[in-house]
Amino acid sequence: MRDLVEVAHGVHVATSQVYTTTSTVVVGEDGTCLVVDPAVTAREVDGLAAVIRDRGWTPVAVWSTHAHWDHVLDGPGFSQLPRWSQGAAATDPETLAAERDADPELARTGEAPAPVAALRTPYPQQSPGVLDWPGPPVHVLTHQAHCRPHTALVLPDVGVLVAGDMLSDVEIPLLDLTAADPVGDYRAALDLLASVGADVVVPGHGRVGSADELSRRLVADRAYLAALVAGSPWDDDRLALPWAAAAHEAQRSALAP
Ligand SMILES: [Zn+2]
Repeated sequence: MRDLVEVAHGVHVATSQVYTTTSTVVVGEDGTCLVVDPAVTAREVDGLAAVIRDRGWTPVAVWSTHAHWDHVLDGPGFSQLPRWSQGAAATDPETLAAERDADPELARTGEAPAPVAALRTPYPQQSPGVLDWPGPPVHVLTHQAHCRPHTALVLPDVGVLVAGDMLSDVEIPLLDLTAADPVGDYRAALDLLASVGADVVVPGHGRVGSADELSRRLVADRAYLAALVAGSPWDDDRLALPWAAAAHEAQRSALAP
């Protein structure tokens, strides 16, 4: 885990060595904080908990943007907290732990993985889609792209979009190929995320981006989807890693006309 970097007032991001996975901490003026997607190795998650403790912040809950194994991780510093998400996860913790243990990128680190959180509960709502918690305003966007359901957090006071596994500079759009209309779901989600007009985007994997970079990623992801649907060849820096190229091939063969 590299340093925790403040990317906007009260929004701090740490980045894992595994899949450039980000963890975001949303901190209120009184130190109350929400921890989003703590990841990935046990050492990294423990390090994040230690930094939060050292800074005197008080975490009130952990948020999982979606129920893939790398977004539901836990550690002794967080396990006593409520684990909020959009509704109950479709996949049980044992299956997620097995997926984590089979992951080659995590295995390559040689480090102990963080445990998978046992319980996830629907988040408390002040009004529909607005988180009820003592920190700064958090609006929850829910969509069906990549994983069903998938959430993004909008922090309107500071113009930040915490996007989960969308809008990445290092990952192509990864579709939920079990859905009836994976591309339609993905396009609808991109439209929803674009409508926020955020100044800062925090992807679940990759680098934090400005408004211009967010626009660039929207264009790139829509173009990628168009090429998939058309069966056109696609070249993208994001296909450089073998696992990404394999994911692209799987999507191409599933969706080729
Ligand atoms: Zn995911």
